[in-house]
Amino acid sequence: AALSGGRTRLCRFEPRMLDEAQSRVTLASDLRRGISAGQLRLYAQPIVDRDRRVIAHEGLLRWESPARGLVAPADFIPIAEQTGMIVEMGAWVLEEACRVLAGWAERPETAHLAFSVNLSERQLRASDFVQTVCHALETHGAPAERLKLEMTESMFHTDIDRTVRVLRALLAEHVRVSLDDFGTGYSSLSYLRQLPVQQVKIDRSFVTRVVEDPDEVAIVKTIVDLADILRLQVVVEGVETEEQFAVLRELGIDAFQGYLFGRPAPVSEIDPLAAGG
Ligand code: C2E
Ligand code: MG
Ligand code: MG
Ligand code: MG
Repeated sequence: AALSGGRTRLCRFEPRMLDEAQSRVTLASDLRRGISAGQLRLYAQPIVDRDRRVIAHEGLLRWESPARGLVAPADFIPIAEQTGMIVEMGAWVLEEACRVLAGWAERPETAHLAFSVNLSERQLRASDFVQTVCHALETHGAPAERLKLEMTESMFHTDIDRTVRVLRALLAEHVRVSLDDFGTGYSSLSYLRQLPVQQVKIDRSFVTRVVEDPDEVAIVKTIVDLADILRLQVVVEGVETEEQFAVLRELGIDAFQGYLFGRPAPVSEIDPLAAGG
C-alpha cells in the first residue's frame, strides 16, 4: 500500500519537469541580469474620483526584456519572490515612486496627486523596510503623505503584531496603506479594525459581475458600509465600462481605477492629470 499506483506515478521522471526547472533557472538568471542592465520599467495607471478627476496613480512593474519582450508581473514577480530579488526590485520601485512624487509636488496642478506602490511580503519582512521607505522619500524630497503602500490581506496572516508595528511606524511618517484585492481573502470586520490601513481596494472580480448580479451589488454595498464605519477610503479596481462605473458610483465608492479611465503606461510618458479611455 505504501507504494500505491498514485505514489509511484508522482515519482516517475518526466522530461517536462526538467524543462520546467531549467526554464525557471533561466528566467531567474535573465531577470537578475535584466535588473542590472536597467530593464525594469515603472508603469502607472490613473485612479479617479467620482467626477473622473485624477487623484492618484498606481505604479505597476514591467520588465522590458530584449529577448522576451514586455513581461507582465504575473510572469516574473513569483520568481522574484522565490529568489528574494523582489526586495531589491521593490526598493527600486519605491525610489521611482518618490522621484515621480517629488516632480509632481513642484507643480501646483499636480501637487495633490498620490502614488501607490505594491508591496510583496518579502519586502515587508526585511528588517530595514521602514528605513528603505524613509530613505527613498528623503533622497528625492518626496511628500510622504502622498505615498501609499498597497498590501494584500494575506500579508497579515503571519506575524500580525510585527506587521502592525511596521505600519504604525510608517503612519508616524505619514505614509498610508491600502488593502489591495479586498474581498478575496477572509477578513472579518473585527480583523479589519485592528489593521492600521486607511484605504481598501475592492478586487476586480466583484466589478465584472456587479452589473448583472444583484447579490454582487449587495456584497459591494456591504464592503462600502463597513469601510464607512471604519472611516476607510474605498477604491475599486478593474472598472472597464460606463455601466459598471455608474453602478459603483451609485454604491458610494470614492475612487475608481480601470481601463475605462486609462491603461497602465510608462510613468515617464504619462500626462498625470489625464484620464482617458
Ligand atoms: P494589482 O495590484 O491588483 O494591480 C491591478 C492589476 O489589474 C494590474 O495588472 C492592472 O494592469 C490590471 N488592471 C487595471 N485595470 C484593469 C481593468 O480595467 N481590467 C483588467 N482586466 N485589468 C486591469 P498588472 O500590471 O499585470 O499587475 C498584476 C499584479 O502584479 C498586481 O495586481 C500586483 O499584485 C503585482 N505587481 C505589479 N507591480 C508590482 C510591484 O512593483 N511590486 C509587487 N510586489 N507586485 C507588483
Ligand atoms: Mg495594487
Ligand atoms: Mg489590486
Ligand atoms: Mg486585483
